Amino acid sequence: MGRRIPLQIFSSSMIRPSKHVVHVVIDRCKECGLCVNFCPTGVLARGKELNARGFRYVIPQYIEKCIGCKLCEHICPDFAIFVSKGDKSLD
Ligand code: SF4
Ligand code: SF4
Repeated sequence: MGRRIPLQIFSSSMIRPSKHVVHVVIDRCKECGLCVNFCPTGVLARGKELNARGFRYVIPQYIEKCIGCKLCEHICPDFAIFVSKGDKSLD
């Protein structure tokens, strides 16, 4: 499946940890930007790092804004992003 990392750790402005974790299968991302453009709360952004295919894979730059709607997961044509529940103690 390629490298997979919980991108919550990349949040650059983590004022408060999110109740949700956004995962990206890095080498599947083709930088199409669909998830970035359709995320209703502006969580996602293209990162600066390149994956093995030369694309700037997305990162959840503002993870604290994630509402867990999973729109990014459903809209990605390459099954490169998915969302899971994070720390329930934050509820
Ligand atoms: S929709 Fe999928 S392939 Fe496109 S930028 Fe987002 S994660 Fe990458
Ligand atoms: S689950 Fe919804 S709010 Fe969270 S990153 Fe995906 S589209 Fe954005």
